[in-house]
Amino acid sequence: HAKGLGKNQYLMCTQAIKDQVEEQLVLTNHLHRALEREQLVVYYQPLVDMTTKSIVGFEALLRWSLPERGIISPGLFIPIAEQTRLINPIGEWVLETACRQNKLWQEKGFSGLRMAVNVSVVQLGNPNFVQQVEAILKKTGLAPKDLELEITESAASNNVDNIVSILASLKALGLTLSIDDFGTEYSSLSRLKVLPIDRIKMDMQFVHGIEGSEKDQAIVKVIINLAKSMKVKVIAEGVETKIQLDFLSQLLCDEVQGYYYYRPMPAEEIEEILVSKSLVDSE
Ligand code: C2E
Ligand code: MG
Ligand code: MG
Ligand code: MG
Repeated sequence: HAKGLGKNQYLMCTQAIKDQVEEQLVLTNHLHRALEREQLVVYYQPLVDMTTKSIVGFEALLRWSLPERGIISPGLFIPIAEQTRLINPIGEWVLETACRQNKLWQEKGFSGLRMAVNVSVVQLGNPNFVQQVEAILKKTGLAPKDLELEITESAASNNVDNIVSILASLKALGLTLSIDDFGTEYSSLSRLKVLPIDRIKMDMQFVHGIEGSEKDQAIVKVIINLAKSMKVKVIAEGVETKIQLDFLSQLLCDEVQGYYYYRPMPAEEIEEILVSKSLVDSE
């Protein structure tokens, strides 16, 4: 709102908006070529079992490496990819890359790990999406049970027609489904009731609040207990400290993901960790 602001502040506001629009245009132009120029990279972040403390899977997280700008985070370019529908080819590429990687790790002896891949609401609205997933599983040879698709809560709300039947068709392929960023969107409970999901991913804002806010502690408890009574699994995102970990552990949260254990890493670094762990285990 420009009203009530001084003239200078007003000019600064419009300049900031102009910069933002320009930035979006620049990124949009480059994003069109990012795939063919091989600037996209998938990082993997380990998912850790709370009782055994061992790695039970990974989340595939997209990175865009632009020459002269370095690595751009998905928070910045996924919205652009969604607006331009580039998320369809990009998402397909991520899915295939992540499935192939998991299959490769299995062939190297690291089996029984699940690969979780984020799916945008735009992809779910693509009438070919289920076929696409089926084709990628076939092509890469990954068993469907070793793939999980992460659906954001907003996607699971109202934006896509027939969301329940789309998710049911995906589940019929034999994969598992999770609701990402759980707790951040409204109407979550009524949706949860009807969606065929296997896991809740508790949003990290509640995890981060554990140390300073009794209200966040209460919400964390409610989400874990909700998952238990609905007989779905629960994973906490963004776990960074021992205090957070211990709190979640006491409440019998199934899994955790966060910088406390591992950051998202390129495949080669993950493989080094898997190799060193298997050496320790076999001692
Ligand atoms: P998300 O799916 O909720 O992913 C979790 C985010 O939390 C990741 O951010 C991850 O790097 C970050 N994270 C993990 N542990 C910690 C921690 O301990 N502390 C903090 N502060 N953050 C942590 P990232 O990689 O920047 O991704 C952001 C979002 O971009 C993702 O949120 C997801 O919604 C979206 N995204 C990423 N890759 C893809 C993709 O391939 N397709 C689609 N459609 N969306 C993607
Ligand atoms: Mg996710
Ligand atoms: Mg999340
Ligand atoms: Mg998120």
